[in-house]
Amino acid sequence: MEIYRALGIENIEPAPEDFKLERAHVESLTGKWLDESSWSDTERKPKAEKPVEKPPRPSGPKKEYSVERASAIPQDKLEPMLEALALERGADIRRQQKLILVDQDQDGVIATVTDDEGHEQKIRGSYLIAADGNRSTVRQLLQIPRNGRGHMQTLSSVLFRAPIEQWTKGFVQFDISQPDLKAFLASYSDGRWALMFKDAIDRDEQALRAAIYQAVGRSDFPIEIITTGRWELTALVADTFQAGRIFLAGDAAHTLPPNRGGYGANTGIHDVHNLAWKLAAVLSGKSSPELLDTYNAERRPVALLRHDQIFVRADYKIHLDTATPAGQKIDDDAMEFGQIYHSQGIIGADERLPRANKPDEWNGQPGTHMPHFWVLKDGKKAPTLDLINQGAWTLISESDEWSEAVSTVNESSSVPLEFIHIGEIVQLVHEDDFEKSFAVSQSGAALIRPDGYIAWRVDTIPSDAAETLKGVMSKASFSIGRSQV
Ligand SMILES: Cc1cc2nc3c(=O)[nH]c(=O)nc-3n(C[C@H](O)[C@H](O)[C@H](O)COP(=O)(O)OP(=O)(O)OC[C@H]3O[C@@H](n4cnc5c(N)ncnc54)[C@H](O)[C@@H]3O)c2cc1C
Repeated sequence: MEIYRALGIENIEPAPEDFKLERAHVESLTGKWLDESSWSDTERKPKAEKPVEKPPRPSGPKKEYSVERASAIPQDKLEPMLEALALERGADIRRQQKLILVDQDQDGVIATVTDDEGHEQKIRGSYLIAADGNRSTVRQLLQIPRNGRGHMQTLSSVLFRAPIEQWTKGFVQFDISQPDLKAFLASYSDGRWALMFKDAIDRDEQALRAAIYQAVGRSDFPIEIITTGRWELTALVADTFQAGRIFLAGDAAHTLPPNRGGYGANTGIHDVHNLAWKLAAVLSGKSSPELLDTYNAERRPVALLRHDQIFVRADYKIHLDTATPAGQKIDDDAMEFGQIYHSQGIIGADERLPRANKPDEWNGQPGTHMPHFWVLKDGKKAPTLDLINQGAWTLISESDEWSEAVSTVNESSSVPLEFIHIGEIVQLVHEDDFEKSFAVSQSGAALIRPDGYIAWRVDTIPSDAAETLKGVMSKASFSIGRSQV
């Protein structure tokens, strides 16, 4: 949601205030309720004797970690929005084309695609992002192995529309457990529901309807069957996310089982957010191609940690095996908001730090996301997230002394740097927010990358501020020098 906000996509409805990721374990919706479990609980809570209505609880974190709230938008609602925006911004989208071959040399990548009629076409580009899903053709062509818990189960599913909310007590996910029906029922939050059978049996329409009635525990409501599917419950992470000029992203890079933390799509969206600005910098000749190596260094550990964290949580603990050592459970907010990056582009990152922390346990460490707090901009309250423009590097400080150093850097660096002087361009709502959030003094500064991650910070302004900043910018942005652009 933060990424979409920065892209100017504002029509995604956040989840209702009382939305919660609790899952009920039931015989059927109108039958016996056995227990319920939250995503991060490792134990199931027995259901109270008398079923209670779902207590109101705000969605998302208890503390304010972000200006945005989570959304439970179905993928088929979100993707058309993204597609429309991509087209508006110049993307060329070609459907019914299948990539069958890929080749690369020192200057670029050639993809061979074929259409429905078998017409082949070669497309040449400087780089290729393989976002072609779990069974990624590109990953297979490149023979990039994957590792992890592996295949766990093949499931069949039915997507249907039915007015069953009246029996859900506000819950949106159910484990259905009857001797002859083991299934999982999940809401699309728009009247549609997916019933996923814990088996790979092909059911005809009559059998599907019967199973839906059985899961609900009554048969006096209309059902519209929308589609059926089959999918594999798998947890695998590619051994590398980069092969020369080709980058794996999304499920092609890491296939993680569906979970209540949204590690699937969210992890993929973050991949391309990490990669896109780097590609733009390299393609425009401002940064050297080594910047692209930081993609694998930064994103693969995120996928690996998410892989392991899935199996520490209640829903998947049962699937733990020797290939996936349990490890310590990390807080959900830390996993969502606070994974740290380490790479050549993060200056002064401390490898000994935890791999994820809650936002209020970080304070400006290089490799973490810029902290969230409120400032006043043009007299209006704004979150720090809105201060960083897409595509720009930003130095943020309370001291105007940095202004000259930033100008000096801009004279020679191919990568432009913006300066946010707190006190002039923006005002703090709480006097010590900057110093506390970045753990620096008033004359200190933090360098923020175009994706909102902290590349470097310094406690107090050094005597050779311009030279220091020049060196840091050159390392962090892999700038190639203005004269060479
Ligand atoms: C049942 C289920 C529930 C899930 N629930 C959630 C959830 O609640 N939250 C969440 O965050 N994630 C969830 N996920 C995971 C999420 O759906 C995936 O992580 C996400 O769709 C991955 O996006 P992607 O773009 O990487 O790959 P995909 O969505 O798989 O898209 C890959 C695309 O590439 C195309 N393609 C493949 N091969 C080729 C080729 N050779 N040439 C051209 N095109 C090709 C495919 O047709 C497809 O359009 C769920 C997954 C499943 C199966």
